[in-house]
Amino acid sequence: MDYKEKAIKTPIPSGGLGWCVIDDEEIQAVTELLRNPELLFRYRGSEPGQSSLFEREVEEKLGIKHALFVNSGTSALTCCLAGWEIGPGDEVIIPAYTYIATAAAVINVGAVPVLAEIDESLGLDPEDVEKKITPHTKAIIAVHMQGVPARLDAIREVASKHNLLLIEDACQAIGSKYKGEYTGTKSHAVAWSLNYYKVITCGEGGVFMTNDDAAFLRGVYQSDPGTPMWDSDLKADLNIPPFTRAGYRGNEIAAAIARVQLRKMDRILEYTRGLKKLLLENLNEPIHYQRQHVDDPEGDCGISFAMIVESKEAAERFSKALLEEGLSIGSIYNEGFPDRHIYSYWDSVLTKTGATPMGYPWKDPAYMGSVEYSKDMCPRTLDILSRCLRLAIHMRMTEQNILEIAEAINKVDRNL
Ligand SMILES: *Cc1c(COP(=O)(O)O)cnc(C)c1O
Repeated sequence: MDYKEKAIKTPIPSGGLGWCVIDDEEIQAVTELLRNPELLFRYRGSEPGQSSLFEREVEEKLGIKHALFVNSGTSALTCCLAGWEIGPGDEVIIPAYTYIATAAAVINVGAVPVLAEIDESLGLDPEDVEKKITPHTKAIIAVHMQGVPARLDAIREVASKHNLLLIEDACQAIGSKYKGEYTGTKSHAVAWSLNYYKVITCGEGGVFMTNDDAAFLRGVYQSDPGTPMWDSDLKADLNIPPFTRAGYRGNEIAAAIARVQLRKMDRILEYTRGLKKLLLENLNEPIHYQRQHVDDPEGDCGISFAMIVESKEAAERFSKALLEEGLSIGSIYNEGFPDRHIYSYWDSVLTKTGATPMGYPWKDPAYMGSVEYSKDMCPRTLDILSRCLRLAIHMRMTEQNILEIAEAINKVDRNL
């Protein structure tokens, strides 16, 4: 073989997940709804709307007791926290690597986000979580980035040892499983995002889920100031005084799309998992890199593959050599691209800027803690992300693409 011949011979298409499989089914679902404009929300009496139907379908699919369709993943996370009565005075531990919305949800309920390091799983490092616990800590949010479940067993152990709530942000990992169960179903609450970039999508949307009746009802109150006025079976039994807060109601058109997408979830994951399996089967034993730690490969959505090399310089060399083979992947943390998934770019959080000069929630009189932030407060996270190259796996990639990608990685690793 000509040594100059590139490993990547077939162009790698750009693409994504759920949005790539939108077809006549979604179009028909929306058209039907608009022909008979039942655009009311879920509380419309005898006939369940699209939102309600979607919620029942999610509950059934996951085997979880309650699901609430809302307008975004951020809203869904906020419902998780409000549902478990997290608020002013509380600290919530989140990973230093997640979408800024995880921090936003904590701030939304008046609590204070505390950042913990990630490890080679690219999820929370359970040991650092334990170090970040203070007398004010109320909950941990485990985030499953890019379809890979975090080290849930170890994180759950820390949570139960310290009597903390465990909430899961599965916004990027819809359909992921951990030890055979859908992520989130064994924790206090879990959130999905149905934003355009996620595994399944309805443009924008989210789902708040929990097995706990009281937490669910509080989450419902959080989501819609109208809800206390509507009848529900839950309300009568629980005797929780309704409160008035935000407006996160999902819309029927989005829910109609979400229902179709939920039916496509298994097909999407079967495809991405198949591609990732093929990639792993065709990669040689790594010489200059280490694979991302995946606690439970079976449950991984298969939408990403990450390699961790020994130094930032090695990452640059690796990335440059891959580019010469026709594969463009850079390190997650590099000077060229401010990534809002890395805490060091969350200026509004790091500077404790509130919506008013009072500096809420950090200066809330109920908050007795003393959290401090700085751009370099989680050096391990920055170090790992600066050494980590990640490939997105999506619906428009073919087996041929994957085989050539494996060849490119093998070749670069061999010759580096
Ligand atoms: C997308 C995302 C969210 C928020 O979802 P939105 O629908 O954009 O509000 C939260 N956490 C993570 C990790 C995400 O990727």
